[in-house]
Amino acid sequence: MNLRNLNVEELIRFVSQKGWERYRAKQLLSWLYKRPVDSFCDITNLPKEARKELAEECELYSLSFLDKLVSRDGTVKFVFKTADGDLVESVAIPDEDRLTLCISTQIGCRMGCAFCLTGFQGFKRNLSSAEIVEQVILAQKLLGRPITNIVVMGMGEPLDNMDNTLKALSLMTHRDAMGLSPRRIVVSTVGLLPQLEHFLKEAPRVALSVSLNAPSPEKRRAIMPVEKATGMLELVEFLAEAYKNRRKPVTFEYVMLKGFNDAIEDARHLAKLLKKFKRCKVNLIPFNPWPGAPFERPDAETVLSFQKVLIESGIPTFIRKSRGADILAACGQLRWSYKEKGSA
Ligand code: SAH
Ligand code: SF4
Repeated sequence: MNLRNLNVEELIRFVSQKGWERYRAKQLLSWLYKRPVDSFCDITNLPKEARKELAEECELYSLSFLDKLVSRDGTVKFVFKTADGDLVESVAIPDEDRLTLCISTQIGCRMGCAFCLTGFQGFKRNLSSAEIVEQVILAQKLLGRPITNIVVMGMGEPLDNMDNTLKALSLMTHRDAMGLSPRRIVVSTVGLLPQLEHFLKEAPRVALSVSLNAPSPEKRRAIMPVEKATGMLELVEFLAEAYKNRRKPVTFEYVMLKGFNDAIEDARHLAKLLKKFKRCKVNLIPFNPWPGAPFERPDAETVLSFQKVLIESGIPTFIRKSRGADILAACGQLRWSYKEKGSA
């Protein structure tokens, strides 16, 4: 039993079932999320008996720190270990005024995208809500500075682990728990329907990024098996309607694969497709290679020409810097199996 698998309401119920005063829930939340302790004994404002009871019944952490790799550009990849011996990776990306943490929601991923190392390795299991939020708590402790932004773009497909992802997001944003503004959290998804509809209802203030990665259903099907379950035309239609009256626009991610989806013609198709949106944004992610990958990264000039077509069509388009590529910490380079020889 890990208390970080309970949302705030569930923790209040837990405290009341124990027969403790209601304000104890708020105290516990603070020790779990705001000033996380290393042992239940350190919860100084809880009676000794209560501390003992918690120590006997609960585990404080579901993850433990295993390793840390530091990139030339300052990016830090953390490898955490689960109680059952699996590995979870998170990446801290420092910028001038922010410290972003990219977190994982699953061990592996079921979606099998052809360009992604996580997908290539297959699926092991969902992470619990405790395992998701503890990535933030442990990274903060290890870095000695607060995480200011979170991107749910590590291993796994968040909508394929809906309940635990939603619970973790509620703990990250609840005033009495971590208290982060939802505007500082981005969730990236391949956009499964109808799961996305449910997600937008339950976590409406979190920023959404949708991985389109192709200009047409035919091309998307060739690299993303999920296209069979939720077609991109239906997905775009749904999003255009859902974002009609939202303040923050939806972002589309587009992994650029050399000679596959990086032509000017592809950019024109994409621009035409996104005309449906009053406002939207595109992030181009030049492919980050991994050992044995079946794709290559396009050259900078090709990426710039692609961007130009979209910008000229009125779509704000950014090129994502690939941070931490030297330690396999960039998008799509995370994994949970370390069996390969000579790996980072
Ligand atoms: N499963 C979610 C979130 C994790 S992947 C999703 O797919 O959106 C986060 C982003 O990394 C996605 O946009 C994905 O398309 C991109 N990505 C995956 N592998 C990549 C690679 N090798 N190079 C560049 N981007 C990659
Ligand atoms: Fe899964 Fe995202 Fe990788 Fe696709 S890109 S396999 S959905 S983690």
